[in-house]
Amino acid sequence: MARAAAGAGARRRGAAAAGGAARGAAGAGAAAAPPTAARVFNFSAGPACMYEDVLAEAQREVLDYKGCGMSVMEMSHRGGDYSAIHDAAEADLRELMGVPEGYSVLMMQGGASLVFAGLPLNLTARADAVDYVVTGSWSKKAAQEAGKFCDTVNVVQGDNKSIPDPASWALTPGSKYVHLCDNETIQGVEFQGAPDVGGRTLCADVSSNFLSRPIDVSKYGVIYGGVQKNIGPAGLALVIVRDDLLGSPRADCPAMLDFSTLAEARSLYNTPNCWNIYMCGLVFRKLLDMGGLEAVARANAEKCAVVYGAIAESKGFYDCPVDEAVRSRMNVPFTIPSDAELEKAFISESTAAGLVNLKGHRSVGGMRASIYNAMPMQGVHDLAAFMKDFQARHQ
Ligand code: PMP
Repeated sequence: MARAAAGAGARRRGAAAAGGAARGAAGAGAAAAPPTAARVFNFSAGPACMYEDVLAEAQREVLDYKGCGMSVMEMSHRGGDYSAIHDAAEADLRELMGVPEGYSVLMMQGGASLVFAGLPLNLTARADAVDYVVTGSWSKKAAQEAGKFCDTVNVVQGDNKSIPDPASWALTPGSKYVHLCDNETIQGVEFQGAPDVGGRTLCADVSSNFLSRPIDVSKYGVIYGGVQKNIGPAGLALVIVRDDLLGSPRADCPAMLDFSTLAEARSLYNTPNCWNIYMCGLVFRKLLDMGGLEAVARANAEKCAVVYGAIAESKGFYDCPVDEAVRSRMNVPFTIPSDAELEKAFISESTAAGLVNLKGHRSVGGMRASIYNAMPMQGVHDLAAFMKDFQARHQ
């Protein structure tokens, strides 16, 4: 069994999915390598599908990185070969995102969850107030973590299906920052740009829509996310922080969470996650070669339109609970409102058809299609065809 994630009985992509032959893979061809028969379409929310040509490149280099006679996993993080990888990854990320002068890029271990603690420890004193806009599970978690470090965490509560109008947000006068989750991975609620927060410092968790579209970095004080959805393997968080926010960590902030220490050391304070940074670097280069984030965003818009289109065309057989204006381009949650039992059949039949990991998060149920950058266009067309066929057979 080549892939445990596929589960028993999952058909590989080479076989026609239930619902018929795959349709036009073109369009987002730029977004992904052609599928191979050995792999499934993986709709996991993260860790998630990666570009096949990136995986193949890593495979080619795993024993001997460019004639070094060793793997990136075996190199000293202070040596010249790794330094070149590290520097190129940072430079390419800066180019991709158009990071302006005056921002530092940190490549941290510990994932986005550790950054939840890093924000208050670097940007506040205990007595300071902070504002958290809660639009789903991850922003709620971030707010809860901040509550361990700040006396006042003011929550602007949404309903997990929409985003309250920023003009209505009751922000705290003098708060140190406003935090939001740019894309709620579980609920599928996505901000469509940076909201106006009245000149306050805006901090955004972009874990699940990282590099999925252009972003105006200058509107944010901190942009951060784990890489295991849209970029690379789990275990690395990228933090882009405006330099005026550096320099005043709390006295008891651990060194590994101290943004200033990491910035000064250029993410080499200790041994970094070298292999992961190498993998992310391959993805950054690929995205630049594809034409940058505008091209990526066009492909993503096309892909999510196919899935939301399939839901709309079902005339209520499938339902997406999220307000149309804030629907995520990355995570599409949907249900079968008429019969929850049918959802179980949907998940097992789709798995058998090689469309795997479509089960919704355990906290909300239903289904969820995570269609990150590396999901090929073919994957969403196969999913839409499967949805139509499933409806025809079960309605
Ligand atoms: N924020 C969001 C939006 C997420 O989706 C996740 C992971 N699912 C996290 C934070 C936590 O990330 P990590 O596992 O890297 O700590």
